[in-house]
Amino acid sequence: MEASLAAKSIFLTGCSRGIGLEFVKQLLKLPNKPKYIFATCRDVEKANELKDLAKKNPEVYLHNLDVTDFESFPSVVSWVKEKVGDGGLNLLINNAGIFDVSALDVISREKMKQSFEVNCVAPLMLARAFVPLLKKASSAAGGDNGMMSCSKACIVNVTSRMGSIEDNTSGGHYSYRASKAALNMVSKSLSVDLKSAGILVGVVHPGWVQTDMGGANALITTEVSVKGLIKVLSSLNQSDAGFFKSFDGSTIPW
Ligand code: NDP
Repeated sequence: MEASLAAKSIFLTGCSRGIGLEFVKQLLKLPNKPKYIFATCRDVEKANELKDLAKKNPEVYLHNLDVTDFESFPSVVSWVKEKVGDGGLNLLINNAGIFDVSALDVISREKMKQSFEVNCVAPLMLARAFVPLLKKASSAAGGDNGMMSCSKACIVNVTSRMGSIEDNTSGGHYSYRASKAALNMVSKSLSVDLKSAGILVGVVHPGWVQTDMGGANALITTEVSVKGLIKVLSSLNQSDAGFFKSFDGSTIPW
């Protein structure tokens, strides 16, 4: 039988719409559904579909989080800690992201900085803020001697194939490509630094997905993308530390 994701607690960013919202929907359908789904977004009040899901499912806990509001991280971590206690946090999914299309003639310092802040700096800082709770989850499941998995203790950063240097044959998209390539490097370092604590880290490419970001002409729906991503996350172990996986299970070159 195929392994299935069995994380008890999962924290996600950017759940107001798109891939983040679909993650929440599909996590609720897992055979071993999480006890805690910490679904965050910039403005919970305006996220009607997400609010609806939380009303119907007691596993869904909502909190406002702008990922660039670094000063709010300690209180968000405390909010999670209060609920999960000694069990810690099993899985952090840094999903929130922005897509800037500025070409060479219009790219600006501001645009570069903004993409880096949201797509790379924020996932790194949030990961660091959650390390103590991820370590707790890892220890609760046997610490560094145990098998690594996304059900035990894991950080998944949602990147893009556009952040692959080897895959870049069409140029352009300076801020997006560079910020995701930087996210990839940050994730690789995290995977090395946190391995001894039993925390698995890597990046995933969701495919070209029909969301506000991907547009209507994108190749796949959020359902197909997230179904694939959950299957990938279910299958990862210690030999995958520093993974760069596509939603279809293939490995993407750095
Ligand atoms: P959407 O544009 O549909 O959604 C983006 C999400 O990120 C929204 O929930 C948005 O919140 C949130 N977000 C943006 N900025 C912030 C911030 N500062 N703080 C908190 N949340 C924020 O995009 P997708 O769902 O398509 O993308 C999700 C991830 O997948 C991104 O990291 C993206 O780069 C990646 N990706 C997507 C692809 C695609 O084809 N769609 C392809 C490859 C990668 P709000 O509603 O408040 O704006």
